[in-house]
Amino acid sequence: MVPPVQPRKLAKVPFVELADGRLQGVVSSGSDIGRVYVSSIAAGSHNYNCSTNNNRPCGGLYGSPCKHLRALVAEAVVQYGADRVCRYLRVEVPEGADPADCLGGVHEPAPAAVVFSRFLRHLAYLEVPDTTLPIPELHWFPATGTVG
Ligand SMILES: [Zn+2]
Repeated sequence: MVPPVQPRKLAKVPFVELADGRLQGVVSSGSDIGRVYVSSIAAGSHNYNCSTNNNRPCGGLYGSPCKHLRALVAEAVVQYGADRVCRYLRVEVPEGADPADCLGGVHEPAPAAVVFSRFLRHLAYLEVPDTTLPIPELHWFPATGTVG
């Protein structure tokens, strides 16, 4: 199956961090440019959660990590390096294996709001691209710094 060509959108994983004993971050939806998922994996237990920024559970969690969690792990490896990510999560990864395949956790609900608000703060520090066009995927971004 060839995925349809999509208009420019948020990076697949615009935000990833190793914080609060978790690998967590924000993953944009593959199908809806206005929707993002907050995904997290706990260090040690590897229990994971994925929900929309409105705390709606991800439909892809069928007893195993969804594609957003896999994308989150892949991006963390790019940004932090596989060694650091695996050490942080305390996961044993055989040579050549995907860390996302080596997690032994179960689904465990976790609030998305904290991660999501950090993502918004992170966005605020990013340089806004030099464009006069509206950025539809940022429509939920507060227009005047009244947050906090
Ligand atoms: Zn998901």
